[in-house]
Amino acid sequence: MVVDAPQHSGLESTLDYLSERSLAPGSLVRVPLGRRELLGIVWDRAEPSGRDLWRVRDAPATMTLRAVIEVLDALPVLPTAWRELVSFAATYYQRSPGELALAVLPPELRKLSAATLTRRLVRLRTRLAQSAAAGAVHEPAARAARPEPSAEQALALAALAADTSAAVTLLHGSTGSGMTEVFLREAERALDAGRQALVLVPEINLTPQLEARFIERFPARRVVSLHSGLAPAQRLNHWLLALLGEADLVLGTRLAVFAPLPRLGLIVVDEEHDPSYKQQEGARYSARDLAVVRGRIEQVPVLLGSATPSLESWHNALPAAAGGAGRYRRLSLASRIGGGALPTLKVVDMSRLPREQLRASPLAPPLLAALGQRIARGEQSLVFLNRRGYAPVLQCTECGWQSGCPHCSAWRVFHKLDRSLRCHHCGFAERVPRACPDCGNADIQPVGRGTERLEEQLAELLPGARVARIDADTARRSGALELALQRVHAGEVDVLVGTQMIAKGHDFRRITLVAAVNPDAALFSSDFRAPERQFALLLQVAGRAGRDAEHAAGAEMWVQTWHPQHPLYAALRRHDYAAFASSQLDERRAAGLPPYAHLALLRADARTQAVAQGWLQAVSEAGAELAQRLQVTLYSPVPLSVQRVADVERAQMLVECVSRPALQRFLSAWREVLQGKRPEQKGLLRWAVDVDPLAI
Ligand code: ADP
Ligand code: ZN
Ligand code: ZN
Repeated sequence: MVVDAPQHSGLESTLDYLSERSLAPGSLVRVPLGRRELLGIVWDRAEPSGRDLWRVRDAPATMTLRAVIEVLDALPVLPTAWRELVSFAATYYQRSPGELALAVLPPELRKLSAATLTRRLVRLRTRLAQSAAAGAVHEPAARAARPEPSAEQALALAALAADTSAAVTLLHGSTGSGMTEVFLREAERALDAGRQALVLVPEINLTPQLEARFIERFPARRVVSLHSGLAPAQRLNHWLLALLGEADLVLGTRLAVFAPLPRLGLIVVDEEHDPSYKQQEGARYSARDLAVVRGRIEQVPVLLGSATPSLESWHNALPAAAGGAGRYRRLSLASRIGGGALPTLKVVDMSRLPREQLRASPLAPPLLAALGQRIARGEQSLVFLNRRGYAPVLQCTECGWQSGCPHCSAWRVFHKLDRSLRCHHCGFAERVPRACPDCGNADIQPVGRGTERLEEQLAELLPGARVARIDADTARRSGALELALQRVHAGEVDVLVGTQMIAKGHDFRRITLVAAVNPDAALFSSDFRAPERQFALLLQVAGRAGRDAEHAAGAEMWVQTWHPQHPLYAALRRHDYAAFASSQLDERRAAGLPPYAHLALLRADARTQAVAQGWLQAVSEAGAELAQRLQVTLYSPVPLSVQRVADVERAQMLVECVSRPALQRFLSAWREVLQGKRPEQKGLLRWAVDVDPLAI
């Protein structure tokens, strides 16, 4: 069995229990462990993928085994392919299979006894039968209207249909090029063949829209969503429908990559480049990468789609002759549906503006004028600033006091609406002090600008304009986001201010101008992926403008920058992802960075930096010999860029190797060292390995 035991419990491998009858692998059981009763899964005798890491030990005859408490046998067993995926993920991401398997099951399952689960399944089946009798679903025929594919879509669809050997396809389509329509057609093909389709999206926010589109297209099919925003009982029901083979199409966020699907026939990963596909705690898996693995295990085609593919996927899709890995097929949709043009780029050189002007207005005069024109014409604009709150810091005009967080090495952000100072790292919040805590001066001023302040300033600078804001703060109340989006779609908003929340996916029809107010920070970040992320984000933002051919001709994207000559903006001007990718890949190759090398991060949290770094140093020394043998490079421990969060000091160490298998070999051997190594001083709180980390 594998059971729900965390990484640090030391229960790494499978456990043995007694059962009076033979149980098939994949059966769910309740078993005793110590004084607790846990959910477990009957695992395979040998790992399905033949890995030796989790050898099944022969139970010593003298040992008294404890008995299984009960078997949840109303449920079909979790399929072999599912167990294989979980085993692979556990090994690859350096976790135990039990921890990973139980983490990706719906939490509600843990609470149910065999009897309650049986009752639940009976209820679910009754409801299915009723809805089938009422003709709600599973009624054949009923086909929704669908658009005739464009020439480019037809080409892509033909290519996909012609070569059905299970493989990975990277669909590179510019924003609004009808990529989703290709997904719909491919899903239709899978469903018509009696298979299930799995569609992954990066964010919960994007599921309702897309779900509506799939439901509309497949009125005779059962479409379910799977994400962490569902009520626990609903999530369990949707998961059960997937496992029972009753759900035809499962639409979900990264955790849905583990949905058990007995009839799986297609996997789609929408916006495959999106960082949200990487889990950032526990087992730090990449759902995008696991989708590819799952496709291979289950022999089903995988479709990765993006306007700005990750450089890893792009490299995999480039033919070997072009210096790529030639692993994926690449198809592209270059033009927008309906002939909508991509917006023209207007770069404002901020270094040429007089200082007074910079102070007076967050937007340069020509940009402000352009906004005014749109408003006069009844068109909409979107102003993008990736920083929420009113101002990133408050400062005393007398003594220079700043609103630092007492628990983190970070500023607390000023939120004007509730007059609070809030730390975006640890959540620590207080009311804004009436006077400077250090010198008593009553004049404390906001420094810098977030979306809240931008909204306020724009309302002042554009009298009469209807300015609205969408960010994590305005979207906090449930339903608030939908309402705000509705207002935009209904034309009740002239200027929409927002963070990256508004950059993704939304099909705004009337926006003809988008502006990035302060996009420079990423140009000089210490994270080598920052330019890639920023380019993707800006191209996504640009993609929100001119989606309606009627207004597209004059669509513009404005960028305010102190570095107008930067190659990133040059590539953006031409909407040239390929050129940008190629220059980035050249840099990565020269620097020996992914996709030309493979990385893992070892992170340690402790009471002090010295303890965190000391522990990293110790395990580094203990692994040095093996690392050398496998040509793995262990870098020196360093503090994280935000070094202290919630009174915890954080440090990390980079592990690098040209060969992925060698890196894997090193990590699995090193794990024993990590688990055994007690810090010299007390105060090490936790550590974690992040394989293929996204943020360095
Ligand atoms: P993307 O996923 O690339 O943003 P969508 O598939 O959402 O693009 O298409 C953008 C818009 O064009 C949508 O409103 C969609 O309904 C419409 N559309 C897509 N394909 C076609 C087509 N072949 N004919 C007409 N309209 C289409
Ligand atoms: Zn002061
Ligand atoms: Zn804090």
